[in-house]
Amino acid sequence: MHISTIEFPGFTKLNIMNKTISLPFIVLLVSCTIFNQKIPVPDYPDDLQIVTRSEWGWKPLKKTLPEHHVEYITLHHGGVIFAEDKNPIEYLRNLQDWSRAEKPWIDIPYHYMIDLNGIIYEARPIEYPGDTNTDYDPTGHALICIMGNYEEQILSEHQLQVLIDLCAWLSVKYSVPVERIKSHKDYTETLCPGMNIYQYFEDGTIVNRVIDSLKPHQ
Ligand SMILES: [Zn+2]
Repeated sequence: MHISTIEFPGFTKLNIMNKTISLPFIVLLVSCTIFNQKIPVPDYPDDLQIVTRSEWGWKPLKKTLPEHHVEYITLHHGGVIFAEDKNPIEYLRNLQDWSRAEKPWIDIPYHYMIDLNGIIYEARPIEYPGDTNTDYDPTGHALICIMGNYEEQILSEHQLQVLIDLCAWLSVKYSVPVERIKSHKDYTETLCPGMNIYQYFEDGTIVNRVIDSLKPHQ
């Protein structure tokens, strides 16, 4: 694009290809390009039934982080009791607002959220590292969070199966070895993801079932 005229002082107007465009308009154009950058939606298999960001009303990022390379898959729980009649989409919208207003985070700290019914929601774009309130560095980790407090709530078999399916898909998609499917508790001092989920890491259920589900791909 040829810029033929720049008026001084104040860079108020630019004459671009014989059209005079005010600087605020150009700033708006550039801003829209940054904020509405196209974040790719992965080719999810139909059986994962993932609710994409655009489907639940996610608001575009206002700032980003350096992109990371996914090398680990790490599970969390929400840490607060999730009532059966609570609306998970409302929860996600509130969590996004809170993460940006009350925390210095670009978005929800996790990449995928799973609700009580085993529905998976996209959250922070996986291209960007997540966040944590604790002292491990989540760079390189794909973060999955199951809504609820699993020190007290019980993980249903369906939620467990959905979690295994999501871990299996992520491990293939990002070439993450199954030994790197772990939980928050494996990296730092925390109760997360709660003993009613952690038991499935301790007894090998999650990793073994991921391995079984990947057998047709090997
Ligand atoms: Zn956690």
